[in-house]
Amino acid sequence: MDPYIERSPDGAVAIGTLDSLLNLARKNSEWYLLFATACCGIELMQTGGPRTDADRFGFVFRPTPRQADTIILAGTITYKMASRVRLLYEQMAEPRYVISMGSCANTGGPFYDSYPVVKGGDLILPVDVYVAGCPPRPEALIEALMLVQDKMAREPWLRKARGRWPDPKDPWPQPSAVLGSCAAAAKGPTPKG
Ligand code: SF4
Repeated sequence: MDPYIERSPDGAVAIGTLDSLLNLARKNSEWYLLFATACCGIELMQTGGPRTDADRFGFVFRPTPRQADTIILAGTITYKMASRVRLLYEQMAEPRYVISMGSCANTGGPFYDSYPVVKGGDLILPVDVYVAGCPPRPEALIEALMLVQDKMAREPWLRKARGRWPDPKDPWPQPSAVLGSCAAAAKGPTPKG
């Protein structure tokens, strides 16, 4: 909800919900994990550079999951890497968000037929925003980060705290089955005979 602003000769008084105030702070300091699994990572690095100037939106990269709000799946995810990606996600504090960047992270991309490639990051993490492209340009990634900002701005924290708001990620199945098959695939085929 937008705050109500009453102007007075000495300044102004803003009245809003506590949720709005919390979300205003959160959405303007969205820190994303500096992590990539393949060539989309080059565009991810470029997004943090001076030409794109992501800092003006409050997007700052962090090299540690413990201080990051958002993880970006940037690149092809192999079965060997899937459990590491999941581990990084689990080291992030709630609330946390996931962006799937590029064709490989969305569906397996040009390597869809390749046996070691996971056919979509949403098999291992609950993705909030998908970015199309091979690779997506930094501008597309900026838009995805802004969509996450929009989501942050709408989160009803106090209603959630009172149990009056269902978490849309709750029904998302735990990926143990997928990660189990990832581990099996990482070991390689079983020898015949
Ligand atoms: S989507 Fe294209 S650029 Fe991105 S990791 Fe896959 S092959 Fe590389």
